[in-house]
Amino acid sequence: MDCLFCKIVNQEIPADILYEDDLVIAFSDINPQAPFHCLVIPKKHISTLNDITEQDRELVGHMVTTAGKIAADKGFAQEGYRTVFNCNSHGGQTVYHIHLHVLGGKPLGWPPY
Ligand code: 5GP
Repeated sequence: MDCLFCKIVNQEIPADILYEDDLVIAFSDINPQAPFHCLVIPKKHISTLNDITEQDRELVGHMVTTAGKIAADKGFAQEGYRTVFNCNSHGGQTVYHIHLHVLGGKPLGWPPY
């Protein structure tokens, strides 16, 4: 399977790794949209949020708690930060391996268009 983020998981292409465990990996976004912008992804390939099953409940929960821990470690817990899953074309998804964006370090606008 030709998946960019699987290649990052398998260390076939480099990334600025911020966190890794058995289930997930977090790395800096190559095109940051905020002073801090990283992506938390599962090591297991899942193409979109539509492909998540009940069996992925713990994995997705772990992605969210990992995002929260990274944000807290970076000092964003108090002032806040944003987490985003984009799904398919209308959601703005460009890489088809699910990823949780974590953005922080400035007040973020809403809505995101
Ligand atoms: P999406 O638009 O799918 O929600 O987000 C994909 C994200 O992946 C984008 O923010 C984009 O900048 C990031 N990205 C794309 N290619 C690479 C890459 O090769 N390395 C890293 N670190 N991030 C990437």
